[in-house]
Amino acid sequence: MVSRSTSPILLACLAVALGVAAPPAAAMPPQARRERIDVRDSSGSRLLEAFILVEAVDGGLLVEHDDQRYELLPPESIVTRQPIDTTDADTTPKTLASRIVADLPPGFDVLTTKHYVICFTTSRDYAKWCAGIFERLHGAFINYWSRAGLEVANPDKPMVVVIFADRSDYETYATHDLGAAADRVVGYYNLLSNRITTFDLTGTDLLPRPNGRPSGGVGLDILSSPAAAGLIATLVHEATHQMAFNGGLHQRLAPVPLWVSEGIATSFETPDVGSATGWRGIGAINRARLDHFLKHHRQGDLEAIVVSDDRFRAAEGPLDAYAAAWALTRYCTDARRQQFLDYLRLQAAKPPLADDDRDIRLHDFEQAFHCVPGDMEDKVVEAMARLASRPR
Ligand SMILES: [Zn+2]
Repeated sequence: MVSRSTSPILLACLAVALGVAAPPAAAMPPQARRERIDVRDSSGSRLLEAFILVEAVDGGLLVEHDDQRYELLPPESIVTRQPIDTTDADTTPKTLASRIVADLPPGFDVLTTKHYVICFTTSRDYAKWCAGIFERLHGAFINYWSRAGLEVANPDKPMVVVIFADRSDYETYATHDLGAAADRVVGYYNLLSNRITTFDLTGTDLLPRPNGRPSGGVGLDILSSPAAAGLIATLVHEATHQMAFNGGLHQRLAPVPLWVSEGIATSFETPDVGSATGWRGIGAINRARLDHFLKHHRQGDLEAIVVSDDRFRAAEGPLDAYAAAWALTRYCTDARRQQFLDYLRLQAAKPPLADDDRDIRLHDFEQAFHCVPGDMEDKVVEAMARLASRPR
């Protein structure tokens, strides 16, 4: 059962979405070109080397730095551009880690695993435990979509996670990304930086330990914490977003409807603190989202989240939108799988900085599902009521 304490993750995704700058008009398709660019803006002059992802008709650029950050360069900030060899980029995990640690506050150590670079100020044991969750999610994510019939790529670059030991240090850092919401958000994936940032929700590293060692292993210490369910849901939810945006299920900064990105993340997040590892995989009923949906659903909710992301950004009621996103995704996965995969393929093809209005979003839905969302609503409610009647 997901505890109420996990609700801040919803705000995390919301805040990151709001942090994305408005796109320049009529963007060109992405091109894997590397350039040296002389930039001059209010913060001064700098020379950068980056991949060009999108070039707008007004000359503005979306670039990707070697630490995976995206940056929008307004046309007036670009002084000169010079093509350079793409093989100049050094993206080894070691170089990536040193770049990221250089930008973080002092005191960070690095753990490199098969698919992740984890920068942490917690104990190494705690970072390793979190890495175990990420690596299991990584494998389960690729297996799940492969078995469903959708090709998802194994990301070709290590994915970056930053874990603070201390909540106040985390909040100080996260305020830059989340503003005033930082004190309500316990972990987030940032589309621009491509990083997950979080902290030790369980306080496990602060527990007294005989001879300085964990009494029953750091995993048991974490799982025995009242915050364990929230921690696991947060890690898996944000790691699912990161996998989706790095495995090609979605494109970063593309107009992916929040109902589908959040519907997928909430489908994966369900923790299982009764198991030895805290998370057993995908497909469990997310009882918190299901109960919320059945209690708060109103006719028209599904169309509202299909045609617009406004409900997710509302000051009141975003939990309703997340619950509806989970329910619609669950129904589509169970009863409309091929059509859902068609819809995901449509979304995966959207380029960064494209701009979809309500009509396009409704058209995409109709094209994939051969109906409007309202036609599906009663069936979704009935299917969710049947799921709720299953023994817990
Ligand atoms: Zn999310």
